[in-house]
Amino acid sequence: MTRDPLIILRSAGLRATQPRVSVAELLFCDGKDRHVTAEWVAERLDAAGKSVVLASVYNTLHAFVEANLLREVRGAERGVIIFDTNTVPHHHFYHEKTRKLTDIPADAVKVLKLPTAPKGAKTVGCEMIIRVR
Ligand SMILES: [Zn+2]
Repeated sequence: MTRDPLIILRSAGLRATQPRVSVAELLFCDGKDRHVTAEWVAERLDAAGKSVVLASVYNTLHAFVEANLLREVRGAERGVIIFDTNTVPHHHFYHEKTRKLTDIPADAVKVLKLPTAPKGAKTVGCEMIIRVR
């Protein structure tokens, strides 16, 4: 994957606004997968002298989710949305003391039975969060 934020945004069909370029540089340009909150992103951008208001960071992160550049992880912590740069389906360990997620490869978990989806709905995924201390 390229590490040029302009190419990443263009390939995803997103306009290269300044907040998007700054967030893409922060999240994608070192090639490392990470789990971040909007607050973490805003703090890092601020520290780098590229301040972006928190609402704009949220809008940018949600646009990246819609464009499949990020995945949302909900449910690890109440009311906290974690954005994951690893967009391949996988599971997570949630470390309660450090409040960090680590990835578990999808094939490391075997789900033996799932309930039938509610009428009119179709199961499209199953992601597990395993809590550890
Ligand atoms: Zn992950």
